[in-house]
Amino acid sequence: MALYVQKFGGTSVADPERIQDVADHVRRTIARGDQVVLVVSAMGKETDELLRLANDVSAVHPGREMDMLITAGERKAVALVAMALHGVGVPADSFTGSQAGLITDTTHRNARILEVRGDRIRASLDAGHVPVVAGSQGVSTDKEVTFLGRGGSDTTAVALAHRLEADACELYTDVSGVFTTDPRVVSNARKMATLSFDELLEMTACGCPKPAMRSVEYAHRHGVALHIRSAFTWEPGTWVNNEESSMERAIVTAVVHDMSESKVTISRVPDEPGIAARLFRALADVNVNVDMIVQNVSVEGATDISFTVPSTELDSAAAVAQELGLGNVTTSDDIGKISIIGAGMKSNPGVAAQMFETLAAGGINIDMLSTSGIRISAVVDGASTEEAVGLLHEAFELDRPVD
Ligand code: ADP
Ligand code: ASP
Ligand code: MG
Repeated sequence: MALYVQKFGGTSVADPERIQDVADHVRRTIARGDQVVLVVSAMGKETDELLRLANDVSAVHPGREMDMLITAGERKAVALVAMALHGVGVPADSFTGSQAGLITDTTHRNARILEVRGDRIRASLDAGHVPVVAGSQGVSTDKEVTFLGRGGSDTTAVALAHRLEADACELYTDVSGVFTTDPRVVSNARKMATLSFDELLEMTACGCPKPAMRSVEYAHRHGVALHIRSAFTWEPGTWVNNEESSMERAIVTAVVHDMSESKVTISRVPDEPGIAARLFRALADVNVNVDMIVQNVSVEGATDISFTVPSTELDSAAAVAQELGLGNVTTSDDIGKISIIGAGMKSNPGVAAQMFETLAAGGINIDMLSTSGIRISAVVDGASTEEAVGLLHEAFELDRPVD
């Protein structure tokens, strides 16, 4: 008898029919003799809807009240999923994050899990029931309801899988696994059967929305085997685990793009010690998350510094840069970041050259660059981003099956 934590994302429980499909899938899993703990997200776009309502009602959004509001989406979904399970003859118990014993810190809207008690979940399983846990929520050390942040249901599932020593954590979504690139952008993107944690971590850090980055970090740290798969076709998806042997041996395994960043450039900054320190300390002090940084070679004692930040933080970043008066500040939100990722890159020279040649052949200009051991990222013009993704996917032959 195996124990699975199965997490269903918003699209997988978007309407009554989808909820009934989920219930039927769980019924079949149980009939095989396995045990299941469910983690469920809010239905469809409900979280966005609740955020919109908050904006319509007031410009003041205390963290405590926001978390009470957002977590209502998952609370509604778990009750409905539990009812659907009863409807197909499977006894089920719904639980809020607090009831499930997910203890978090006190950071509203982006709380971190400190401890998973999980004894009520165990008791429900021992009674032969299916526990249905509301994703992305917990109770803080101050006894307040907390939300774990966007995409937090993946983290709830991984944390429960770890605590309950489940055989696998299955993340069900609207695509059949992790693809060599976003299947919405490149039609011949290929589903990967297996992937290493290192590669998946780089992918999620560079903009791949699935699974949520924090859940991948948690799974990696605690050795939780992940299986990302489809709640529409139910076919086997992508396995992610710590086994080296399961790694696909391609030099480049995936191309990821991210349209959510913007660029700030400060021109004619004095080239002297302490300037970068002042700038990036000031940005850190207002919680701006800087991603890429480029500083040019100085000409006549002056240089240019460019950096990227999440577009949502562009205004505060630009304001900080202006205030310091280091040089002329310009911004652009029309950029895209493309990254190629692959564990085989370390031992293969020429990957960067091939990436740049491919972009050059497509007439796409590279604005900024950064690398890690298993990643090369380039910032390009926003309008060229999807084209660049397609060209790189083709150049590295990512549509070809790996044996
Ligand atoms: P859920 O709501 O189920 O948690 P999301 O909507 O957050 O899932 O993420 C799933 C989406 O991620 C897919 O519809 C897909 O278009 C997109 N996506 C982008 N890049 C990739 C990739 N490399 N592999 C798989 N999906 C990707
Ligand atoms: N419903 C929340 C969101 O949309 C949490 C989740 O789905 O993981 O971000
Ligand atoms: Mg989601």
